[in-house]
Amino acid sequence: MTVVRYRTKPAPVNRARIARDRDLPSVAEAVLAKCPDDPVYCLRPQVLSASAEQFTRLFPGDVLYAVKCNPEPSVLRSLWDGGLRHFDAASLNEVALVRGLFPDADIHFMHPVKTRTAIRSAYNRFAVRDFVLDSMDELEKILEETGRAQDLGLVVRLALPKGNAVYDLSGKFGASPSDAVALLRACRRIARRVGVSFHVGSQCMDPEAYTRALDLTASVLSAAEVEIDMLDVGGGFPVSYPDEVPPPLDDFIAAINRGVAALSLPAHCRLWCEPGRALVAPGQSVVVRVTARKSGALYINDGIYGALSDAGPSIGFRFPVRLIRANGSDHDGDLRAWEFFGPTCDSVDRMKGPFLLPADTAEGDWIEIGQLGAYGTALRTGFNGFDQALLIEVGDRPLLETPGYQPAAMRAA
Ligand SMILES: *Cc1c(COP(=O)(O)O)cnc(C)c1O
Repeated sequence: MTVVRYRTKPAPVNRARIARDRDLPSVAEAVLAKCPDDPVYCLRPQVLSASAEQFTRLFPGDVLYAVKCNPEPSVLRSLWDGGLRHFDAASLNEVALVRGLFPDADIHFMHPVKTRTAIRSAYNRFAVRDFVLDSMDELEKILEETGRAQDLGLVVRLALPKGNAVYDLSGKFGASPSDAVALLRACRRIARRVGVSFHVGSQCMDPEAYTRALDLTASVLSAAEVEIDMLDVGGGFPVSYPDEVPPPLDDFIAAINRGVAALSLPAHCRLWCEPGRALVAPGQSVVVRVTARKSGALYINDGIYGALSDAGPSIGFRFPVRLIRANGSDHDGDLRAWEFFGPTCDSVDRMKGPFLLPADTAEGDWIEIGQLGAYGTALRTGFNGFDQALLIEVGDRPLLETPGYQPAAMRAA
């Protein structure tokens, strides 16, 4: 008989436990004390808590953290410590993870295409009531697997025209306006609560993208003649990268408020958003070690199959960097442009940057690469055996500030 085994995950990261009530070390202190040959994921719990605190305070509704962005339990705990209580889960594993950590969390299942097992277990075992959908087939699936439950919250995901976010998400999910009208009417007949959602794309630099999506929402709602109980403006809120400074969060919230005002929603309707990147990107960096240098390139111990996939050929992000010299010296030296090669044997494991670092960067030095709390470690694989990494907690500020984001507590630091 065939034995079926579940595929294992990449090796879990090796966590150095650091008590929260103690002062956290700086990245440089921790690295020089441990001299790690493996990549080090440096979590900034205070930054994560402060960004959760700030986002939940500024956003005029419920803030759902998009768990896929970084499901590390200490990240989730730091967000919870900052007052975040809602989670956007997209798989049964994410649902189970959040429920295991926070019995009282509000978990919303925001993937428009779910397996039957995932729907059934989310409803029966993990007390999830809110499900997103973008087709009649998915609606029927949800109804069948929940035994036509009377307490569902059903959210219709709208497709948006192709936008200009860095990561366009228009191609895969979402109902056309006419399908959305039919879905809203069908949901209204059977669900306790009905909502609309969309996603403008990730790292969206244009606040007006939200207003345009809300204009589309307005036309769908007026055609459907359906009252909604929640309106979910999705994720996409941007953070800073070198050469890319987004408008402040306030501008996005103002654009959303303008779009919402034009909708004349019922007074009880809740506004939701689902930020991922904006909540966690600044809250984690990765320290890599230089294994070799060859003319314009540094060979480092993490790459596109690890936490740096967004720096690779398909996305080509330039992340902020800073050098930590193996000899502890902090002289800056003249900067020059470097490209990075990752540790695997695959030639696509290459990060063009350019990354600005001292010209005398040497084998054995470490490089801290910032803004990697989002879609960094979440995407790592075990390819080629390079799956070992350390996780530590540090007290540093982020390597880059995002305008309008810096929480008061950190700004004073
Ligand atoms: C990925 C995703 C998010 C988070 O997007 P960010 O750009 O990281 O804010 C939110 N909602 C949905 C449905 C997603 O797929």
